[in-house]
Amino acid sequence: MAVKKPKIIVVGGGLGGLWATIRIAEAGYDVDIFSLFQVKRSHSACAQGGINACLDTKGQRDSIRQHIIDTIKGGAYLANQPPIKTMCEEAPGLIRTFDRMGVTWSRTAEGVMDLRLFGGVKNKRTCFSGATTGQQLLYVCDEQVRKYEEAGKVHKYEWWEFLSIVKDSNGACKGIVAIDLRTMETKAFRADAVVLATGGLGLVYGKSTNSTNSTGAAAARVYQQGAKFINGEFIQFHPTAMPGDDKNRLMSEAARGEGGRIWVPKNVEDTRPGKEIPEEERWYFLEEWYPAYGNTVPRDVASRAIWKVCRELNNGIGGKDLVYLDLSHRDEAFLRARLGGIMEIYEKFAGEDPTKVPMKIFPAVHYSMGGLWVDWEKDEASGGMKQPSARNHQTSIPGLFAAGECDGAYHGANRLGANSLLSASFSGRVAGESVAVYVKGLKEGADSLPGNIYSDEKQRQDSINQGLMNSQGDENPFLLHHDLGELMRNGVSIIRDNKTLDEALAGLQELKARFNKISLDDTANWSNQPLIYARQVYDMIVLGEVLAKSARMRDECRGSHWKPEFELKIPEGKFSGDPEFEEYRAKWKANNEQWLKTTVAEHTQSGPQISYEKIEISVLPPDEPRDYR
Ligand SMILES: Cc1cc2nc3c(=O)[nH]c(=O)nc-3n(C[C@H](O)[C@H](O)[C@H](O)COP(=O)(O)OP(=O)(O)OC[C@H]3O[C@@H](n4cnc5c(N)ncnc54)[C@H](O)[C@@H]3O)c2cc1C
Repeated sequence: MAVKKPKIIVVGGGLGGLWATIRIAEAGYDVDIFSLFQVKRSHSACAQGGINACLDTKGQRDSIRQHIIDTIKGGAYLANQPPIKTMCEEAPGLIRTFDRMGVTWSRTAEGVMDLRLFGGVKNKRTCFSGATTGQQLLYVCDEQVRKYEEAGKVHKYEWWEFLSIVKDSNGACKGIVAIDLRTMETKAFRADAVVLATGGLGLVYGKSTNSTNSTGAAAARVYQQGAKFINGEFIQFHPTAMPGDDKNRLMSEAARGEGGRIWVPKNVEDTRPGKEIPEEERWYFLEEWYPAYGNTVPRDVASRAIWKVCRELNNGIGGKDLVYLDLSHRDEAFLRARLGGIMEIYEKFAGEDPTKVPMKIFPAVHYSMGGLWVDWEKDEASGGMKQPSARNHQTSIPGLFAAGECDGAYHGANRLGANSLLSASFSGRVAGESVAVYVKGLKEGADSLPGNIYSDEKQRQDSINQGLMNSQGDENPFLLHHDLGELMRNGVSIIRDNKTLDEALAGLQELKARFNKISLDDTANWSNQPLIYARQVYDMIVLGEVLAKSARMRDECRGSHWKPEFELKIPEGKFSGDPEFEEYRAKWKANNEQWLKTTVAEHTQSGPQISYEKIEISVLPPDEPRDYR
């Protein structure tokens, strides 16, 4: 007999979590949604530039097929292709749904949806709301969820932190333990299925473009409870961020899509302000090296080019890790209307008006292509993903689903700009629908499970907290996080080598040992932030190990993972058809035989155990190497 009134928990109130909630509530089930703070403040609200969908309102003969190709190639073929196919096919419908929900899209004077150019593509395909797209999308989802909240179908637990899942005797997920961030009370919650939509992990690197809550701790926790984590080595460094002491602030790819140009003074000793340097004394290196795509090459390519100019050629501005992102040649009114959100951020933190002077930027950690392993079911008829299916977006732990940036499904080795608001929304929607199918098939409800599985897990969490509160060492979590960030930024960076990765792995062991000597400067029972933070720091160290070990094991260059020792160089000035290029293509294919596979990390007491999984390449077999020249 089916479970009478299944109860579902969604952890995370960003685009992924809210979309899952909407779909589950629509299917008639009750949802408890957990978030570290008001869901409306989730990190999705920070997204700036836009969301991809083939609408072709510019008449460029854009096609969904091209969106699929760009996404697969942009990710260096490292993602299962049927889910990508379905995501791109459903993108235009998703945009229309957002439109009906009230998103204030930027439009042309004629009222047509405007589109802008983004990286790694030739056609304008990015829908946007000025430079605050994420906020507009999140707010309309929030309104929908409030409707269900009002109807009593959704209950929000804001200011609660997820600590762990509760498993039954078969290893299936049957609830969670969470902590009230105000009272510090831990509590076990029963659920027939749980969706994790807890966002990215940029804070593992200390400084990034992410918010302070993007620690990845929730994903690390379920990983330590048995969920598989894939492709940890693929971390996106966004080419254009403002370096800062506290964090790195993103200057959206939309800036380049709207005509922004990257350059450095030809003479590294040139001390004149950027605006005063004449055109012929500037080096537009992206335009020179990649004439076909210019400033809108994909992020991994742009970041490596900037790295090369600054670190290898020592030609950054004034010899520093800085290059110019220049929009000052564009009309001010145009910039304010299209990019106002980021123009204001730059002006506020740099004290200079980017409509008048070029901005100074450098790559920064931005996005994790890897994440929790999630299943999917193929639809043999269409070649895409079968929907709905209880398998879609289910992690390796039955009953635990994952969506949004914390899953690793869509972006392979490199994410294309504006594809993440798409994957977060799409995957949340799919996960919600999958949960509705999954709970229908359950024979026994969480309500009838023995209470001890819940009290035992709560007890385990309480003793971790108590252990930290009692610990009397000479280490503090803030310093440990600082050191973790430095280690990751230096050791698992844009350019990698095995010696440095070995050192990073050894350094992570040391950090773990130091963590055992931690002491908290606050042992209060009310809103104890150091305790919460310390727990996140530990989980970030665990994730750091996954990232570093996965990177150490992959001996090749692919997307954002670059080990020059193993680079297959495209012959200069040679293109498809030239014998030299064909020789390169053969080598590239041979390398794919060995390395075109998903990295799968599983937790063991002695660290991550790595294995590999085959990739489904039925939509676009890897015959064409990525080439943006
Ligand atoms: C500055 C910036 C700009 C961006 N711009 C774009 C763009 O223009 N286009 C694009 O496609 N992508 C963009 N991205 C990426 C995109 O915004 C994100 O990948 C996406 O919004 C993530 O959505 P999400 O739902 O997975 O997570 P989030 O929106 O990060 O939400 C995570 C949720 O999980 C909750 N949570 C986390 N941990 C816990 C826990 N332990 N317990 C309880 N709750 C928890 C949080 O409270 C939050 O509600 C940008 C990213 C950044 C950093």
